[in-house]
Amino acid sequence: MKEILIVGGGVIGLSIGYALTKRGHAVRIIEQDPELKDSCSSGNAGMVVPSHFIPLAAPGVISQGLKWMLNPKSPFFLRPRLDPALARWIWLFMRHSNQQHVSNSETLLRDLSLASRQLHVELSEQEDFPLVQKGLLMLCQSQEGLDEEAEVAEAAHRLGLEAEVCDSARLQELEPNADIKAQGGVWFPQDCHLDPHDFLEALRSRIKKNGGEIIHTQVKSLIDDKGVVTNTGEKITAETTILAGGIDTLNLTKQLGLKLPMQGGKGYSLTLPSPPRNPHLCSLLKEGRVAVTPMGEQLRVAGTMEICGSNTSVSKARLSGIIESFCAFYPEFNPSQFSELEPWVGLRPCSPDGLPYLGRIPFHKNLIVATGHSMMGLSLAPITGKLVAQLVDSETSSLDISSLNPTRFN
Ligand SMILES: Cc1cc2nc3c(=O)[nH]c(=O)nc-3n(C[C@H](O)[C@H](O)[C@H](O)COP(=O)(O)OP(=O)(O)OC[C@H]3O[C@@H](n4cnc5c(N)ncnc54)[C@H](O)[C@@H]3O)c2cc1C
Repeated sequence: MKEILIVGGGVIGLSIGYALTKRGHAVRIIEQDPELKDSCSSGNAGMVVPSHFIPLAAPGVISQGLKWMLNPKSPFFLRPRLDPALARWIWLFMRHSNQQHVSNSETLLRDLSLASRQLHVELSEQEDFPLVQKGLLMLCQSQEGLDEEAEVAEAAHRLGLEAEVCDSARLQELEPNADIKAQGGVWFPQDCHLDPHDFLEALRSRIKKNGGEIIHTQVKSLIDDKGVVTNTGEKITAETTILAGGIDTLNLTKQLGLKLPMQGGKGYSLTLPSPPRNPHLCSLLKEGRVAVTPMGEQLRVAGTMEICGSNTSVSKARLSGIIESFCAFYPEFNPSQFSELEPWVGLRPCSPDGLPYLGRIPFHKNLIVATGHSMMGLSLAPITGKLVAQLVDSETSSLDISSLNPTRFN
């Protein structure tokens, strides 16, 4: 049994805590926000997505992003500012936005996602929370969008993933619970969805049952790789410390001189409490980059990627963009249904190559970094927990994670 400290009780920190307490380790998780309101893990779209085997840094993303920069309602924005860290992140992002990087990453992302999906299924059965295994619809209104997604479906087949290109009639057959206005789309049957609130609660409850502890305070600094100092000056030591603080991990890695290029990718969600009709499949709306997820009686609509450092202000124009896109694809809904809703804001921890940071840090052998999951943190959380547990126990990793090395940009 080892004494482990985890900084961050979002979906990544909790999934690591779950995996480690299951193996009998003594785990303490330090989380500054008891309600997880500001954590990226609470209000996300809840999708478990083997279909996301293409990293954020991919061909065409930069040219599309530049076009979108001029539209205040668009799903992408990069807040320009004089910041060397941002300049470096953009440079690295541009260097990785090519087909070679996609080809190098897609097998690993597929393997991580499929292994994680399997763990999600096992967890939902053991801990009794609903995981809806009906797949995801990628909906397209333009022919260009549909052609692009048909190519993604072909790439999915090459990787051995399931994907069905659908016309509008087939989409409606798969989703009888809502009217869909789309030219066509792709159904990814292996994708799933859940309510992140249920998932986080199940993890917290199981960690406590397994003897783990969740402490609500803020970590101010690291004692090298031997533990942490909290904002009250208390020192908490451990054999291994795991940094899983999402975008705020940067505050701690800076002290080590570790260059961990990461930017906050701001996104919003709005949750309708009880729409008159609720789709039963989750979907992504291609042209608006909006995610739509039924969560029990509720319906969550989420979107935007604003590369913004740590700024959490809400852009009303971009929120309107999300709502208008949703209503354009689901015409039974109208924008007035959203007018009273409080938006949720989350900062995705985005690495410039779209891959997580996962591994030990040289010269600080008792420190492990697990962050940078960008748009896939919920999806990849269980496999991240398993891989970190293997590192802690010095076991051979079940997947080759050398390309996730946290020092790869140093
Ligand atoms: C709109 C939107 C929709 C999304 N939809 C999906 C989706 O459908 N599927 C998917 O897989 N992903 C999705 N994501 C991405 C996903 O939410 C993130 O990748 C994931 O939540 C990151 O988890 P994390 O634990 O690394 O970070 P966080 O959730 O941010 O957790 C980090 C925690 O660490 C704590 N912390 C940090 N520093 C300290 C410190 N010094 N002391 C104490 N505590 C500290 C913070 O309080 C925080 O709670 C979405 C994101 C957004 C914004």
